[in-house]
Amino acid sequence: MEVFIIGGGASGIVAAIFAARAGKKVTILEANDRFGKKLLLTGNGRCNYFNEDLSISHFHSQKKEFLSQLIKEETLKEVLSFFEEIGIVPKIKNGYYYPYSNQATSIREALLVEAEKQGVRILTEEKVREIRKKQTFEIFTETHQYQADIVVLATGSKAYPKTGSTGDGYTFAKSFGHSIVPVLPSLVPLVGEERYFSLWNGIRSDVKLTLFENEKKIAEEFGEIQLTNYGISGICVFNLSGYVAKGLKDGKKERIEINFMPWISSLKEAFSWMEDRSKKLKGRTIEQLFEGFLNYKLIFLFCKLAPISKDLLWENLSDTQKETLISMLFSFSFDVKDTKSYEQSQVCSGGVPLSEVKIPSLESKLVQGLYFTGELLDVDGDCGGYNLSFAWLSGLLAGKDIGRYDTNKTSKN
Ligand SMILES: Cc1cc2nc3c(=O)[nH]c(=O)nc-3n(C[C@H](O)[C@H](O)[C@H](O)COP(=O)(O)OP(=O)(O)OC[C@H]3O[C@@H](n4cnc5c(N)ncnc54)[C@H](O)[C@@H]3O)c2cc1C
Repeated sequence: MEVFIIGGGASGIVAAIFAARAGKKVTILEANDRFGKKLLLTGNGRCNYFNEDLSISHFHSQKKEFLSQLIKEETLKEVLSFFEEIGIVPKIKNGYYYPYSNQATSIREALLVEAEKQGVRILTEEKVREIRKKQTFEIFTETHQYQADIVVLATGSKAYPKTGSTGDGYTFAKSFGHSIVPVLPSLVPLVGEERYFSLWNGIRSDVKLTLFENEKKIAEEFGEIQLTNYGISGICVFNLSGYVAKGLKDGKKERIEINFMPWISSLKEAFSWMEDRSKKLKGRTIEQLFEGFLNYKLIFLFCKLAPISKDLLWENLSDTQKETLISMLFSFSFDVKDTKSYEQSQVCSGGVPLSEVKIPSLESKLVQGLYFTGELLDVDGDCGGYNLSFAWLSGLLAGKDIGRYDTNKTSKN
């Protein structure tokens, strides 16, 4: 039985390994000149391949109800054992798993060695153009034609297309009658139109971020953000970006509030904290009072926007002036107008709906012998190793299920 995996990325190689371990003859067709181009970029070249916190809330899908049937703790643990088996020694930092070498190439090479050991054939520079189903599947690349009994679509999403994931999988899925949950960039910086962005460009700050959609609070995150000349970036920004992209597409108003005093949880508390501070540090100017916890560029910006001279003594300010400044520190707000594009997004939301695949095998409900793995499916995860976790997990589930087919593909064991 010929199994063809379209896409030599994270999920494709794991599907290949598990199908081959079950005795199937497996070929990967990869458009790039080598396997795992995106993998090498992950985690800033260190590959954050897993996370200690296995909570389902870190994964998102339009069909949320299927997530808990698909992403089970025991399967995630199986994924972790698999990496141990193939020789990866983890380094765990704040729950984030990296290879101990701190090099993504360790993960890539371990996967390649295992694939080779299992006899998986990897054909590179084979961009698939079309797949047809007759008795068997016919796969057309630019230069070759292949026949397959089983096809796994592991082509990824449209995120970071320079790594080879250009969205072909959506076209293939549609050609087999599948629908696609609208695809949007996720884990991506947020863009605003404020003129003052040039004044905060380059600052990093630990904050609390709150996202409001049509003035209703929908999510919050704590962590370091980067203030840039187009808006904001950083892990906690990325984790809100999926909601923003969907909201903007639906014509909703998306507003971000930044709390530059994240240890404080109400405006009233912020006010008394500052009054207290000014009493302890009597005779200080605004600049001198703020500089103990705030970046100078922000002090300058807030005073300019207020507008209040930074050289005024805090105790000489009116209540309104104090309120203006404290509100900026506690809930600095701007409207998000856009996200950065697919070129800069780490993943995409949307894809093949979970309602159209069998769970947990990930075989199409419409076409026997057709499987979907990884980001092509309508599942995306938070920053922290969740997207690779899902890629591995989906590859493992599909690969194992393929292994259950008998040689005539008439029944499964
Ligand atoms: C910069 C960056 C950093 C990231 N860091 C992390 C991280 O640290 N942790 C984490 O969990 N996630 C991270 N991610 C996300 C993670 O890399 C992806 O979610 C994951 O790789 C998806 O796996 P996949 O198998 O679905 O697709 P991919 O890994 O994208 O593989 C798809 C493969 O299919 C090939 N392909 C596409 N079309 C065709 C075709 N027509 N014919 C043949 N081949 C084709 C592509 O060339 C590609 O090699 C990061 C992403 C980016 C862009």
